[in-house]
Amino acid sequence: MDKGTLKLLRDWFKKNAAALPWRPIDLDALRDPYAVWISETMLQQTQVSTVRDYFVKWMKRFPDIATLAKASEEEVFKYWQGLGYYSRARNILKTAKIIVKGVGMPRTRKELEALPGIGAYTAGAILSLAYHEREAILDGNLVRIFSRLYALDFLPTDKSTAGKNPSEIYWGYAREMADSPKAYMHNEALMELGRTVCKVKNPECSACPLRNACRAARENRTAEFPPAKKHVQKDWHGTVLVIESADHRILAVHGGQKFFKNQFTLPHFESPRSATAGLPAQAEKYVDADAVQSVKSAGKFRHGITVHKMECDVLYVKLRTKAPKREQTYSRWVERSRATDFFASSFCLKALEQALS
Ligand code: SF4
Repeated sequence: MDKGTLKLLRDWFKKNAAALPWRPIDLDALRDPYAVWISETMLQQTQVSTVRDYFVKWMKRFPDIATLAKASEEEVFKYWQGLGYYSRARNILKTAKIIVKGVGMPRTRKELEALPGIGAYTAGAILSLAYHEREAILDGNLVRIFSRLYALDFLPTDKSTAGKNPSEIYWGYAREMADSPKAYMHNEALMELGRTVCKVKNPECSACPLRNACRAARENRTAEFPPAKKHVQKDWHGTVLVIESADHRILAVHGGQKFFKNQFTLPHFESPRSATAGLPAQAEKYVDADAVQSVKSAGKFRHGITVHKMECDVLYVKLRTKAPKREQTYSRWVERSRATDFFASSFCLKALEQALS
């Protein structure tokens, strides 16, 4: 992209940059790498308007990496609750622990990408925004802009064809944007442009600083780019167990489940739509059939996880026995009154609402 167009982009950004809690008033200021890391991780798959409050509360409770590294996973999940994709929160905590044991936030892409949850995008954002390195970023906003600017009829995730690697082509354009002492501003301006002007539907080309360089706008073909993602949705039907002991504790399990493999969740398994009444055989993995007082169908809910379109039956299993006192590594009995705080995913919250309300 020529220097004149890049200047138009920077001028547009200086005039239009929204005030955000993670963005300093001085757009040329070096940023706190911790704040960049947290905000950019929260922003993955989540709207800016949602992230604002989460970010402010998070930074108030965990103002630096050292404070965060001392927190429990349970508390971190509490501050993440509602943002979804809980593996992001777990990875943030893991990474904070690694960083405090080492020598602080890494300064190279290789070291950053070696940390849990930090991919090419977040590493580029930390290096460019916090340290003003000439490092590129590529997220959905930039993909949309590049696809339109250069009329690219493929996505970075598409398979390589005729010796061309789509991901490399997109990253090549991203690196071109970042090949400047103002890489930090080009990166952030493109993110903002994608969010506010070069939107998914009806881009506002007349207000765009890149319009003279944009092939899709010139050819009146913006609706054609980027091409639609080809993904196959998978239907999944299952049963979620809400097992309550005689002393009002709910069973949480860790591992061995279809979803949420790395966090405590409610036991669940794939089951046919016409599941029979009574205690299913799979539940005997968690409770002794003799200890069961009653089994009640507590309703159903729909849910989506990655490509899975789920329909879940909720079974409420009441035990006549108390929860074991001894803590187990892969299971935990959570007080009923604390269950909605403990179970972080909306999948569990939906099942609890059906069973306990
Ligand atoms: S001119 Fe239109 S399509 Fe092209 S980058 Fe700008 S907003 Fe997007």
